[in-house]
Formats: sequence, structure tokens, C-alpha cells
Amino acid sequence: MERADGFNLQITKLTNYKFTQFTRSLNYKSFMSKFAEPMTRLIDELKKLPGVGSKSAQRLAFHILRSSEEDAEALAAAVRDVKAKLRLCTVCNNITDVDPCVYCSNPTRNQRLVCVVEEPTNIAAIEKTRHFNGAYHVLHGSISPLHGVGPEQLRLSNLMRRIDAGEVDEVILATNPTVEGEATAVYISQQIRRPGVKVTRIATGIPVGSDIEYADEVTMLKAMEGRREL
Ligand code: ZN
Repeated sequence: MERADGFNLQITKLTNYKFTQFTRSLNYKSFMSKFAEPMTRLIDELKKLPGVGSKSAQRLAFHILRSSEEDAEALAAAVRDVKAKLRLCTVCNNITDVDPCVYCSNPTRNQRLVCVVEEPTNIAAIEKTRHFNGAYHVLHGSISPLHGVGPEQLRLSNLMRRIDAGEVDEVILATNPTVEGEATAVYISQQIRRPGVKVTRIATGIPVGSDIEYADEVTMLKAMEGRREL
């Protein structure tokens, strides 16, 4: 038994060595074209992911090929489900598998306090603080004339409906402190101005742990503007 195991190990080592030698002996381009069709297809699909180049895609594809049947199937199923089962919350546009989403349907959260963010991932950043107990509204973007995104492309109609129905006391504009985010905040503040609805903008400024000596003028100005009484 021991001999047999040792023998198998030798074979594995030899195979791995030979494989490495084989891949090294070919330049990348000629090697790419020698993949079997399903492998080429997987690599091509993985290459479409952000931050994944040809070599990373190849490494991932080989990892998937070597992984167990169950792991590969679980990955494929997760990719399928994310498209099939997730949709936008009809109240706040958050990505969800139940409608309304967990934030909109939670009775312990203040549904009259709405925090507006650009992307669904921004919600996680705010939730991390554990200090916000209101609801959200996701715009899925920001106004960016350079990228051809105008105000009409923002998902704003369902927020307007909530405001017009008298369901909102305060709207916190938590779009990014970028040119696009600021323009979006200004535009929304003009659109949603109604008597009895408070519109606020998150304060931005010096990041915690940094030195004010290194802050640029805009950051410093924002920090001064956002000051509060102690
Ligand atoms: Zn929701």
C-alpha cells in the first residue's frame, strides 16, 4: 500500500513538472489557442469581469477545472441565481430577493427617514456604522454628463412618490463627495423640496487618522462647513 501511494505521488509530481515545462515551452499566445473549446469559452467569459486580465482568467479557469464537481456546480448555480432571483426593491431600488427589501419591510426602522445613496453597495458602508436606523433609496448611478448620464436616468420616481404621499420627514443625501455626486445631490435637493420635508447632505472632510496638513482645499473646506458644536 505504502509503495503504491509513493508511486502515485511520484507520478503526480512528474505530471505537474511536465505540465509546467510544457506551459513554459510555449509562448502565451500560441498556448491560448491550444485550449479545448469549453476552456477557451470559460476564459473568455472570465476575462469580461472587472480587473481580470488574460492570465488571471486562465488561472481561474484552471482552478475551476481542477475543483470538485460540487464546487464547480455551486459556482455555476450562484451565478445563475444572482440573475434569476435578485431584483430591485419596488420601494427603494435596493437589490433584493424579497420585495419590499429587508430595510423597507423592517418595522423597527424609521421609514420616514430616507438616506439616498448612489449604489446598493453604499448601504453596507452606512450599515457598518450601526448608527443609522432609517430607510434607503438607491439611485443606481449619479449625474455624469461626461459619461452621458443625465438627471432623467436617475431612479428617482419612487422616492418622489414616497415624498408626495407624505411618507417622508427627512431625506439625507449620501451621494459620493465627487463632482458627479455633488451635482446629483444638488439636483435631487431641488426636485424634492416640499414643505415639511427636511433635506440634508452628509458632512465630508478630513478622514479619521489623517493629518490636516495633507488635506486639499476642497476637503478642508468641506470639513469646516460640516463642523458641529461640541
Ligand atoms: Zn427597499
